[in-house]
Amino acid sequence: SKQRRPLIAGNWKMNGLSQPAATELGELVRLSNEHAGPNCDILICPPATLLREMATIAKGSAVSLGGQDCHAKESGAHTGDISAEMLKDAGGDYCIVGHSERRADHGESSAVVKAKAEAALRAGLVAIVCVGETLAERDADKTLDLISSQVRNSLPEGATATTTVIAYEPVWAIGTGKTPTPDDVAVVHAHIRKELGSLINDSDKMRLLYGGSVKGSNAAELMAVANVDGALVGGASLKAADFWPIVETC
Ligand code: PEP
Repeated sequence: SKQRRPLIAGNWKMNGLSQPAATELGELVRLSNEHAGPNCDILICPPATLLREMATIAKGSAVSLGGQDCHAKESGAHTGDISAEMLKDAGGDYCIVGHSERRADHGESSAVVKAKAEAALRAGLVAIVCVGETLAERDADKTLDLISSQVRNSLPEGATATTTVIAYEPVWAIGTGKTPTPDDVAVVHAHIRKELGSLINDSDKMRLLYGGSVKGSNAAELMAVANVDGALVGGASLKAADFWPIVETC
């Protein structure tokens, strides 16, 4: 059994209109109620436009909600941005920061990601800090150095195991159907755990998620890897029927 309570987190990305989102979340809530006390924490990060509506549906259930990104500031002249405080106000308890799509599409450096993670903590949200190498970086044997640098530079000041989660998501595994081998995941997760030892006090308790093409058919194998304390799931989180089997591996 696991040393840390796993977190199975869904990232809906830019998918979700009120329907079918309400139906799918309702179904997930129904499943979590039926199977009282799933052995993990369950999280869905819908688009911010749906957060309040989804919070109404998830209220009182084992399903938590979060944002996919936040601005570093609490409020101000930042057209189109959303603050961590707004996510909290709309019913969020978590916020993903530094997802590779944000790092790539919006040029977010680890310094920017760190500021966003600190904003999440300031607002009382758990920060899910994403790290991961590209295929070119892996092929050049730079994976572990890159991960070290991203962890060191993206982790919020004052991070603890209760306020911060790390998600290892190899960029080449996201949305591609490709996954690293369990051995490859074990190497990176052990490396992150070791790196954390020099950065925070309760490093043994911090949850390290794996993300990248997790689905029902490969989740058990990936979740069994040492130092893998849950999953960050994209495509397979959109439908409750696809997401629930991943939850059930815990
Ligand atoms: C993600 O974007 O966090 C992710 C892991 O996506 P997918 O599961 O679709 O690969």
